[in-house]
Amino acid sequence: MKTINHFINGELTSASERHAPVFNPALGAQTANVSLASAGEVEQAIASAKAAFPAWSNTSPLVRSRILFRFKMMLEERIDELAKIVTAEHGKVFEDAKGEIIRGMEVVEFACGAPSILKGEITEQVGTGVDAYSVNQALGVVAGITPFNFPAMVPMWMWPVAIACGNTFVLKPSEKNPTAALVVAEWLKEAGLPDGVFNVVNGDKEAVDVLLSHQDIEAVSFVGSTPIAEYIYSTASSHGKRVQALGGAKNHMIVMPDADIDAAVNALTGAAYGSAGERCMAISVAVAVGDIADELVDKLAAKARGLKIGNGENHGLDMGPLISKEHYEKVKGYVDAGVEQGATLVVDGRNLVVDGCEEGYFLGGCLFDNVTPDMTIYQEEIFGPVLCVVRVDDYATAAKLINDHEYGNGTSIFTRSGSVARKFTHDIQVGMVGVNVPIPVPMAFHSFGGWKRSLFGGHHMHGPEGVKFYTRRKAVTARWPEGDIGTAEFVMPTMK
Ligand code: NAD
Repeated sequence: MKTINHFINGELTSASERHAPVFNPALGAQTANVSLASAGEVEQAIASAKAAFPAWSNTSPLVRSRILFRFKMMLEERIDELAKIVTAEHGKVFEDAKGEIIRGMEVVEFACGAPSILKGEITEQVGTGVDAYSVNQALGVVAGITPFNFPAMVPMWMWPVAIACGNTFVLKPSEKNPTAALVVAEWLKEAGLPDGVFNVVNGDKEAVDVLLSHQDIEAVSFVGSTPIAEYIYSTASSHGKRVQALGGAKNHMIVMPDADIDAAVNALTGAAYGSAGERCMAISVAVAVGDIADELVDKLAAKARGLKIGNGENHGLDMGPLISKEHYEKVKGYVDAGVEQGATLVVDGRNLVVDGCEEGYFLGGCLFDNVTPDMTIYQEEIFGPVLCVVRVDDYATAAKLINDHEYGNGTSIFTRSGSVARKFTHDIQVGMVGVNVPIPVPMAFHSFGGWKRSLFGGHHMHGPEGVKFYTRRKAVTARWPEGDIGTAEFVMPTMK
């Protein structure tokens, strides 16, 4: 069986001592073993990134940008190849895999603007003959730790901006689907990236803990579940590192009585069941306001029953399997708990069998009605194809539900009222907000991040916040005196 190793200093390495199985979730079959890096292997990757930093950070941003341009062209040409890998190890349908690569590529495109995004500021004459300017400089070696659900896109939220800014990078992708990161590493080398600038170590907690505490790591970017995000934030920051740690979500969509109900139903169906609900921006709660609830539930039920589910490598499907047997059992357990706690299971996807994929981890779309805030299925992130409908009487109750929830990643409202939409976007305690759009994922040139327990740290990802995260400012004050240089002054200098 194939072994998936690491990419350190421009080379694929030999196998580690410890391994974990990698599966094709549609077939429920192991396809490879992934090496789990030892502390020593992670230290090698950090050393290679450290050695590459002086030359890379002193390379002109234009030259860095040209390498990223070449990589972007390669990605466009080879997108099907990468999407097939994502589908095989994640399970999401091929077109959706292409979608995630394109959204990741948009961050590469943003990072291609390195000369522009790195520009500093200057003020002439802050004192007589004195100028002040600030520059943005790279931090050094930075690390990224990423989840299984976007094996191509989420690393691309991080490394393009980090290396465009002159940093060198160590990526620890999810051990559940590690191949995409290694392919990207090889393509970056082919595009002209110097050895050591981008390294991949596969592994688990043992590898992560080295990245969180090693003296040569300056900053850590993390995306994953909230308990691990909190651990990453507290551990890495206690070691003096800059940290951005994005966590889990429970995204609500409010459907107002005046909404275009068919548009809302289409939006909810795609946002709840796309990628089998394994998206941090999936909508998992629909809040039906007033008397539209019955119609909304009926129309959602018809859509959920009609989902086309199968092996993601086939065309014309809506949804593939869940990532693993364990995750399938966990999601199914949530559905069982919802029934036990009194929610109405309108569509039950628990007994789905996909022809030819009998061993795959498939759960059909599930729809709950009459969900209440005291239920586990309302409180916790399920991360599966399960949509909960909560019925409320008015907008204020709907908004309060969202503001009271511990997560604050994304949210959306469907309405025809500008004033309600304006109130919602202003009042709501969530980081990414949509109006009449299902999944309000910010574009690459804006920044991505939630509020509350969906994000630990002060910076969102990519866009301007990404540039801030991966650089530090230096303020320079300079005088080039001619003639009389004056005498020593003992009072605070002030502008005269
Ligand atoms: P996860 O937290 O289990 O794993 C994420 C990463 O952390 C992986 O690389 C994993 O190897 C590592 N890890 C796991 N346990 C660890 C431990 N004890 N110590 C150190 N490292 C550890 O998350 P996942 O299951 O891969 O991904 C799904 C989660 O990610 C969901 O909660 C989802 O909401 C979240 N997510 C959030 C965003 C966002 O932008 N907020 C985006 C995508 C996914």
